Amino acid sequence: MQNFHDLVGGFHHFRANYFLKEKEFFEALAHSQSPKTMVIACCDSRTDPAIVLGCKPGDLFVVRSVAAIVPPAEKVGEYDAVMAAVEYGVKHLNVENIVVMGHSNCGGIAGLFNPHTLKDERYINRWVSLACPAVHEIEEENPDESQSEKARLCEEATVLLSIENLLSYHWVEEAVQAGTLTLHALYYDMLKGSLNVWNGDSENFEPIAK
Ligand SMILES: [Zn+2]
Repeated sequence: MQNFHDLVGGFHHFRANYFLKEKEFFEALAHSQSPKTMVIACCDSRTDPAIVLGCKPGDLFVVRSVAAIVPPAEKVGEYDAVMAAVEYGVKHLNVENIVVMGHSNCGGIAGLFNPHTLKDERYINRWVSLACPAVHEIEEENPDESQSEKARLCEEATVLLSIENLLSYHWVEEAVQAGTLTLHALYYDMLKGSLNVWNGDSENFEPIAK
């Protein structure tokens, strides 16, 4: 599916095969949403969280940002789409989970390791620079790794950095402390087709068991 005409065809397929066949479901959904989970995922066209995680309309409250980065409270902009969505998810929808999902072969993280490719792109450059602490950590801990392995480790570290940054907002931290909100770190490996979850005990991303 590549051009606008295909999208129109795609909508007709959705309407005939989902909307009209499950009218009651979609009618109820039209009046309100009450997703239990919010997902923060990369903008990458290959990592649509609803598809990767097998969800239906209404299941996930989603915001997507380049490299699934969440800005920390001290650096958030005057206008910030990511935090506006997180605020709505936590304060109005009362989501019980926030999942940050990074992925392999991430162009945003690759840009961090090859800054010359982004030098004329001020918005991307500024945005991905939020993940610099993850790059420094990886460079320090794995000085002898190849660039591609460092980038992969940085993709994982950026997910953890986004989780840490979420906790820099007192209302997120308070909800986590109160036990009404749980934060989850996921890493989707699109080459292997595996989904890895952060295990705080082993301090590793581990494949999700069936
Ligand atoms: Zn990406």
